[in-house]
Amino acid sequence: VNRRQLLTAELTWYRGALAPGLGVWLDPDGRIERVGPAAPAQPADQYSDLERVDLPGLALLPGFVSAHSHAFQRGLRGRGESFPAGAGSFWTWREAMYELVESLTPDSLFDLSRQAFFEMRRAGITTVGEFHYLHHVGTDDFLGDEAVLAAAKEAGVRLVLLQVYYRTGGIGGPLQGAQRRFETASLGAYWNQMDHLAGLIDTRTQSLAVAAHSLRAVPLAELTALLAEARRQGLPFHLHLEEQRQEIEECQAAYGKRPMELLLGQPGSLEGVTAVHCTHTRVADLRRFVERGGRVCACPLTEANLGDGIPNLHPVPGITRHLCLGTDSNTRISMLEEMRWLEYGQRLKTESRGLLKDDAGEVAPVLLRAATRGGAEALGVITGEIEVGRWGDLVGVAVSALTVAPVDSQRGLASLIGGGESVAERWIGAQRYAERGG
Ligand SMILES: [Zn+2]
Repeated sequence: VNRRQLLTAELTWYRGALAPGLGVWLDPDGRIERVGPAAPAQPADQYSDLERVDLPGLALLPGFVSAHSHAFQRGLRGRGESFPAGAGSFWTWREAMYELVESLTPDSLFDLSRQAFFEMRRAGITTVGEFHYLHHVGTDDFLGDEAVLAAAKEAGVRLVLLQVYYRTGGIGGPLQGAQRRFETASLGAYWNQMDHLAGLIDTRTQSLAVAAHSLRAVPLAELTALLAEARRQGLPFHLHLEEQRQEIEECQAAYGKRPMELLLGQPGSLEGVTAVHCTHTRVADLRRFVERGGRVCACPLTEANLGDGIPNLHPVPGITRHLCLGTDSNTRISMLEEMRWLEYGQRLKTESRGLLKDDAGEVAPVLLRAATRGGAEALGVITGEIEVGRWGDLVGVAVSALTVAPVDSQRGLASLIGGGESVAERWIGAQRYAERGG
């Protein structure tokens, strides 16, 4: 049985500022039940169930949310990085990825996933959205799903399993080679497996969401049906979108429209829909998508590694409240680095500075929001902020990493995102993980 905890750090990121002298009370289930001035210990405390955890020298932030990951791709790190035959591309990288996919067993998928999730936890990622399409790793159907759930549970990280629907190899083509391991044969088979998974997840730390791999792998009519059912069940819906120019060209050839145009053709609100990458999405399309409630998940380190390009985000009004971040291929697992490169990419693209900023002109809170609350909203998890009622998913970073004294609230956060490296403490619900690294 867990006890109630009171965490008092030197600084706490609360309602947009780093505040001194605050306490964060966690109930025995690991939810935040109070945030307020931390009074000195009272004699009565020793008779209560309250455990006081003093964190001198640390600043408490909401735990990071990686809204888009493929855990098994941790096994690709260092592969596909030799180019004896000339320049590579996303498509040559994909061949290396397929080679890994065909080699995996339920045990090796579990091991790779556990390692990725453990490294995420160490880096302060308390929730991950696992965009999971490697369903088959043996003779039995969907053993890959169970390996991922078990790995996340062992690593302790909160998991949203974005169960991926995957039907075709290219638009209208048959699945080939490694792609057969991704297959969901029909909408009926997909929803049957979702029902099965609902009985397997640990509901304290795991939930389910719906994903269509992309318009390369899902026929438009089936995407429409999948989205409608996800909406009916109140589940988030994610898809890869416009990461590569070739995908857009294939879509135009097949449907006469770009992938984002097809998504915008879906009726109703697009709240609950997250488009991953949008590297080559036109600004006008992105504006309409955001106006209808859609969210964009950027994965700057993976997009750089794969040579995808840089999305045109900054001209879109209101986009800062519709952004989240993902570690995607997990080549480097660092949300601090994803945050800084979200803005740096826009800077390199435009040869100017301060592109993703809030009304006060601050960049750092926008980046932190994308790495926390933005991801939580995209995944439908009540976390990502230090507020009553949310999960007590928290990270502690050294105040010395924030800035030189005295700490100014905004400058401190900007300093962390600009140059911070590691996380010293993490809570996921009531569970504390204190370890160096990150
Ligand atoms: Zn992806």
